[in-house]
Amino acid sequence: MPRPIHAIVHPQALRHNLHTVRRHACDAKVWAVVKANAYGHGIERVFDALRGADGFALLDLDEASRVRALGWRGPILLLEGVFEPRDLELCSRLGLWHVVHCSEQIDMLAAHKTHQPHRVFLKLNSGMNRLGFKPQSYRSAWARLNALPQVDEISLMMHYSDADGPGGIAAQQALFAHASDGLPGERSSGNSAATLRFGQQSEARHDWVRAGIALYGSAPDYPAGDIACWDLQPAMSLRSRIIAVQDLQAGETVGYGSTFTAPHAMTIGIAACGYADGYPRLCGTGTPVLVDGVRTRTIGRISMDMLAIDLTAPRAAGRPGGFGSEVTLWGQASAACGAAALPIDEVAACAQTVGYELMCAIAPRVQFLDET
Ligand SMILES: *Cc1c(COP(=O)(O)O)cnc(C)c1O
Repeated sequence: MPRPIHAIVHPQALRHNLHTVRRHACDAKVWAVVKANAYGHGIERVFDALRGADGFALLDLDEASRVRALGWRGPILLLEGVFEPRDLELCSRLGLWHVVHCSEQIDMLAAHKTHQPHRVFLKLNSGMNRLGFKPQSYRSAWARLNALPQVDEISLMMHYSDADGPGGIAAQQALFAHASDGLPGERSSGNSAATLRFGQQSEARHDWVRAGIALYGSAPDYPAGDIACWDLQPAMSLRSRIIAVQDLQAGETVGYGSTFTAPHAMTIGIAACGYADGYPRLCGTGTPVLVDGVRTRTIGRISMDMLAIDLTAPRAAGRPGGFGSEVTLWGQASAACGAAALPIDEVAACAQTVGYELMCAIAPRVQFLDET
């Protein structure tokens, strides 16, 4: 038998979350962002549930080919554009739309031989200072693109740096409005956070929103918001089982470094899940976890292949809480265990990180199983 850890993708949750994003996006079209192999879920596993989106946005040409291979004929957008001239050939062949964020990419387009003029998204650097043209050079970049026979349609785009926090979007939104004033073309600005928090304003959602994390059931602004308040459902569950049980006397310690000392007699379970599965080692004693669908906590340090769990709560709730019991590290417990939910954001917060990082870091040794 394989080690009992596995991940499950919930198509119904993906559909639900897409619906929630659409509600916030009002009449805007929705890019389903599936970069990083659909935030660790697997492009092929999420495709069917997300095909109700208006397009798929990603970074990697190989991932774009995979979306086309699944039969998607609609828009695909390369969020970082091309990296070298020959990437443009694949864009022509697969009909990919691509971001243009620097003058080198315009040079490549100008030298590209194609019968298939491209649709591009011209990116403004509105203050994040990663990709994009500064406001003062945005119009000249647009004019250069507009003069190229290789380009047929230019859309306008930016990416907020503070949509999930107190900074908000107003200042960068105004900058975008000013830099793009009078230019024709569709506009795209909002990520999940901007769409959920400010999607009611048409200037915040523009023509296209680009939703990633919300589709996967993590709140972009946690802990200010959470998945319950945004009406999102976990799209990925990480589950394992208890493979050993230990009875502790008061004063006994648990795990490497003996960082946890039992204050009184207690029973702990050892789950087959560790940092080599993608569970963060930074999670200390007290990180929430479900055993038989009942919320309890981790104990001591996370090992490479195992972690320890306090079994007091599940036993008090009348659940077995013993050898073979189901452990839900994040996501949803199985239907047999009441389908209780443990948002990935709560676990991420215990590791001083965000849900994004956890879902993207599921290790290759964790197998994905279909929902039963
Ligand atoms: C990843 C990405 C998004 C999606 O962001 P979320 O916070 O996951 O919604 C949107 N736009 C760009 C340019 C991105 O790179």
